[in-house]
Amino acid sequence: MHNNKFFILITIITFLFFYTCSTPTLAVAAVNSYDKYIISAKLNVEKLEIQANETIYYTNRHDLGFNELYLHIYPNAPSFKSLGGSIEIRKISIDGKEAKFIVTGEDRTILKIFLPTPLLPSSSIKIEISFKVKIPIKEDRFGYYAGVFALAHWYPIMAVYDERGWNLDPYWDAGESFYFECAYYNITFSVPEGYVMAATGRLDEIKKKAGEWIYKWYTPLPVREFAAAVSKNYEVVSGEASVGRRKVKVYSYYLLGHEVAGEIALNTAIKSIEFYSKYYGEYAYSEFRVVEVYGWFGGMEYPMFIMITSSLYSPQRRTILELVVAHETAHNWWYGMVGNHEGLEPIMDEPFAEYSDTLYFKWVYGEKKFEEIFDLTVRRPYYRFLKIRDKDYPIAWSV
Ligand SMILES: [Zn+2]
Repeated sequence: MHNNKFFILITIITFLFFYTCSTPTLAVAAVNSYDKYIISAKLNVEKLEIQANETIYYTNRHDLGFNELYLHIYPNAPSFKSLGGSIEIRKISIDGKEAKFIVTGEDRTILKIFLPTPLLPSSSIKIEISFKVKIPIKEDRFGYYAGVFALAHWYPIMAVYDERGWNLDPYWDAGESFYFECAYYNITFSVPEGYVMAATGRLDEIKKKAGEWIYKWYTPLPVREFAAAVSKNYEVVSGEASVGRRKVKVYSYYLLGHEVAGEIALNTAIKSIEFYSKYYGEYAYSEFRVVEVYGWFGGMEYPMFIMITSSLYSPQRRTILELVVAHETAHNWWYGMVGNHEGLEPIMDEPFAEYSDTLYFKWVYGEKKFEEIFDLTVRRPYYRFLKIRDKDYPIAWSV
């Protein structure tokens, strides 16, 4: 996430023990390296509701058996609840048999499922969850505001089990507590006729029926999570980024009146993908979407999909728009393809994304612009902070 209230000083780390989408942690299973999410959902724009059925094919890749499983259900977070958001879990089945569950966690964002029989190492199960989500009226990454549905963190997602045990962190409003294993996604999402949907993944097809458009998304390669945005007010422009011998299709979704900024967002994403692919390693996926939403933040990163807040689409904020698009695009490397626990180890993604957005200006505009941007976003805020606090402070925060 990029938030101008915070800043980050860059450090150089030579060796990092990341895990990537191609190497699951603590893997013991030779097969089913990735879990799979299949979700069928319907958005009710009048009631601000999503009704959904989710199927997760989950494999225990650890060397101990599980009697329970844990998932995050973030719509229950207090900041969403206070503005009308929530998630109601209606029914859960494990391998076709109804299972018991409770909603728990310090902020009620943890779903604990009791397994009828232990899930042994290298074994897989099918989890089916029927649920209803209420969308809060909120300028946020999950919320409805002024005709735009920002839909991140709306579905139950598996908690990560690692050397610390189950990761059951609460939802953090500012910054990220997100920590997910990569998985395949197959999403069928129904919206009213005329509504435009942008999301993580490849758009397979839009089935246009009377009164209803059904978007089908899938991920040919694993991703960490699935996010989307829906509005009937979106305009779309697209282009292509050259990545090795491949072309990556890039789309920019913007609101009426923001044509120029929509083009800038598109071109910034294209150049960012090309430069980062050249210097860091190729962008693995075939599509990428930059989407205007209403947020309290500058931007927010999701796999193959980034949210940029609407206020940055004003003519006075062209440079910061480029900066934030370049930043969130960089997170598709630092957090997306190369993963970490964003809450516990922000140094593993945020400084890299922050430094990447300044390098973007160097690569596109040259050394002078780079110095100017680095001064503006890193050097000056850092010394300003030292002056106020009269002491050093951590080089990366979870922002
Ligand atoms: Zn960031």
